[in-house]
Amino acid sequence: MGAATWVLVLNSGSSSLKYQLIDMAGADADGGAERLASGIVERIGEPGGVADHGEALRRAAGELKEQGLGLDSPRLAAVGHRVVHGGTRFTEPTLITDDVLAGIEDLVPLAPLHNPANITGIKVARELRPDLPQVAVFDTAFHATLPEAAARYAIDTATADRYGIRRYGFHGTSHAYVSRATAKLLGRDPADVNVIVLHLGNGASASAVRGGVCVDTSMGLTPLEGLVMGTRSGDLDPAVVFHLERVAGMSTDDIDRLLNKRSGLLGLCGDNDMREIGRRMAEGDKAAQLAFDVYVHRLRRYVGAFSAVLGRVDAITFTAGVGENSAAVRGAALAGLHNLGVTMDPVRNAVRGHAPRLVSADDSRVAVAVVPTDEELEIARDTYALAAAPQDG
Ligand code: AMP
Repeated sequence: MGAATWVLVLNSGSSSLKYQLIDMAGADADGGAERLASGIVERIGEPGGVADHGEALRRAAGELKEQGLGLDSPRLAAVGHRVVHGGTRFTEPTLITDDVLAGIEDLVPLAPLHNPANITGIKVARELRPDLPQVAVFDTAFHATLPEAAARYAIDTATADRYGIRRYGFHGTSHAYVSRATAKLLGRDPADVNVIVLHLGNGASASAVRGGVCVDTSMGLTPLEGLVMGTRSGDLDPAVVFHLERVAGMSTDDIDRLLNKRSGLLGLCGDNDMREIGRRMAEGDKAAQLAFDVYVHRLRRYVGAFSAVLGRVDAITFTAGVGENSAAVRGAALAGLHNLGVTMDPVRNAVRGHAPRLVSADDSRVAVAVVPTDEELEIARDTYALAAAPQDG
């Protein structure tokens, strides 16, 4: 019988539960963690799906049991939960107590779409294994280092403070992992490297990381701000909201749905999958081309802005579904940026791969990298470090 070195990582979305079981026994800073199993239970609370997150976790537990990886195993050391919003209270991975859970519940108004599902996931996992440490790893935590100049919105300070209105940033686990992995790819100490990370998945965000510390990010109070995403608008003039209310007679909830679920690539062309948009563009589809162009234009704006924020940029790194797979997006986003020190290598950029790699030319002053993100591994690491690693003495 081995020591308790397994970490169960749970990512509870509104209608899905993603899980991974990771063995941290051989893990060190350079890897060595072993993914034992992973899966997803979808359509929670939908017709034809499972009823709730409790049933979803029991289903996941059943799937693991069939692979000889029962969650009743003494090798399971801890459960790590992705929690979307940590507000200003939670700036580090946190061992979950009743008080912490109440704190996460207090943050629901800031993340009404995400935190409730995370809370349900925590409660269900605690019921399943009440004896185990449970750790919350917050999507906002990596951005807690944002200087006030970057975190503050220029609105009345008393109002902002009273309602917790500031830029929190999200995808922090990914930005942290990818910025570190970029330094490793360059063979340099993360403390000496300045990186712009472009996390381009269905949700998308950019961050400026100086010496391992996040100093700016594109998402704000919620994950709606910043880049154009699959179904989210990203940046717009806030007066668009008043205009829709006053002129189109839309309710707050209507506008919330419009901007979060029916905008972005989907709103522009009817598709939110970059693969489909690529296919349509190849056939000369104008709406798909426009969606791509708007997406790329926004991306370039952030690359320029974050170059100025950082002053010296050592690397620009693409990650997540679009960033890892779309050579077209990478190429268009960084084309003609020689004045910023960026020279792509089109051949390297076109090569598909799963390993971290450089796609810039050898003489590019700024390295351009593709680094597959691994949020689950990062959560497992944080969880194990806090809850399960053998203690001294
Ligand atoms: P993620 O949220 O990181 O899972 O990313 C999901 C998105 O990645 C999808 O909606 C697609 O738009 C995009 N994606 C996945 N594979 C590819 C690909 N081969 N080429 C272009 N985009 C892709």
